[in-house]
Amino acid sequence: MSFNRRQFTAGAGLIVLSAGLPRPAIAQAAAKVVIIGGGPGGATVANQIKSADPAIEVTLIEPKEAFTSCFYSNLFIGGFRSFASITHTYDGLVRRGIRVVHDTATVVDTAGKTISLSKGAKVPYDRLVLAPGIDIKYDSIQRYSKEAAEIMPHAWQAGPQTVLLKEKLLTMSDGGVVVMAIPGNPYRCPPGPYERACMIAHFLKTRKPKSKLILFDAKTTFSKQPVFEEAFAEYYKDIIEVNLTNEIDDYAVVKVDPSTGDVTTKSGRTERAAVANIIPAQKAGGIAAMAGCTEGDWCVINAENFSSVKVKDVYVVGDAAIASDMPKSAYAAASQGTVVASDIVADLTSKPRTPGKYRNTCWSMLAPENSAKIGADYTAGIKDGKPHLDPHDSFVSKAGESAELRRETYNESAAWYESFTNTLFAKDVQATAGKVQ
Ligand SMILES: Cc1cc2nc3c(=O)[nH]c(=O)nc-3n(C[C@H](O)[C@H](O)[C@H](O)COP(=O)(O)OP(=O)(O)OC[C@H]3O[C@@H](n4cnc5c(N)ncnc54)[C@H](O)[C@@H]3O)c2cc1C
Repeated sequence: MSFNRRQFTAGAGLIVLSAGLPRPAIAQAAAKVVIIGGGPGGATVANQIKSADPAIEVTLIEPKEAFTSCFYSNLFIGGFRSFASITHTYDGLVRRGIRVVHDTATVVDTAGKTISLSKGAKVPYDRLVLAPGIDIKYDSIQRYSKEAAEIMPHAWQAGPQTVLLKEKLLTMSDGGVVVMAIPGNPYRCPPGPYERACMIAHFLKTRKPKSKLILFDAKTTFSKQPVFEEAFAEYYKDIIEVNLTNEIDDYAVVKVDPSTGDVTTKSGRTERAAVANIIPAQKAGGIAAMAGCTEGDWCVINAENFSSVKVKDVYVVGDAAIASDMPKSAYAAASQGTVVASDIVADLTSKPRTPGKYRNTCWSMLAPENSAKIGADYTAGIKDGKPHLDPHDSFVSKAGESAELRRETYNESAAWYESFTNTLFAKDVQATAGKVQ
């Protein structure tokens, strides 16, 4: 069950209705935390604050009724997962007692400490957490746009875009060329494009064996490169063509033509794609800029607790934040969310504050039952006068690992996905206490 606007209005004392009316003392005393965005960052903060102190009013604002994860969406494209298995409702969070409001935050008034929603409601907060993920920078590629993405999907925000890319692969003729445009750093999920290349190539190998996949990459190097290059050569030798930007050729995609399927690089090479998967540059979800938290494309945060450097009583977690060496990943977003939740609880109650511990692991599927991983722990500090997250105890899969080790890593990854999404969407919370009245 999700929390509709009428229930929300009755239960949370929206400004609209409560103005001028005396409120019960307990309602006045309850601290209000509002979280914008119900992905790994936002859902973690909501869950952990409500679990730590049920007296805190926690409101999660998220337009989607169900969350489709980008993580593991490449496995759907490769044919290893169903769409249903990567889509999760917010029912568990509602059962936990979190007010889940399915709407879009349009305005953040940081002076008045209220959020305006697209359907007209206003929500007050004591502490605000921005977890809006990314927006696509459509204008970073000539003739790419929201409309063009319906023909040349990015599928870098999961949901209808993911389904569209899969449909295009299913319906293309055998012998057609698939072209992927891969952006420069920083972007969501550094190894994600190369896992996607493996999954598309696996699909082509098994379903359209005369087809090819061309990668145009705006970078010279990429995450887990030796492992991916080994997989490209071992499993997808005559399928994948990799074009990394180098001193002679700049393979950054600068122009597309959705009417013909043409994809053009900076150095002037044009390929006509049967399916074009265009992944442009990205920036923090728009509401973060609206709230005044961005510097350039991303939000500056204090590394020890992910509070905004720019706006008081506001935190930013997940992909929208500049987390220095910490990559934009679901694992990282949840790790940051844990620190933010504990900081807010300490701030609003008199519970002790514990220093933040950050961690990340990213798995990538290369071929059936063959996955690689990369990860590290991070310590908050300052470098060159700026907030910094310093990596240590890092690890990465190596080229030449045994099939057995890769199978173990694959199984570890599958187990992570299940337990991570179970926790994130509070699937174990029974329909008992904490339910919205
Ligand atoms: C192909 C691919 C594969 C990936 N694989 C992995 C992986 O294996 N492991 C891993 O850890 N990570 C992976 N990632 C990265 C991971 O998906 C992201 O890093 C993660 O989702 C970021 O979480 P977030 O909470 O910051 O943002 P999101 O997950 O994007 O959630 C943000 C939410 O905010 C909502 N929102 C935005 N604006 C508003 C607003 N104004 N009002 C209300 N709500 C709003 C959105 O609807 C969205 O649901 C992958 C990404 C891709 C694209």
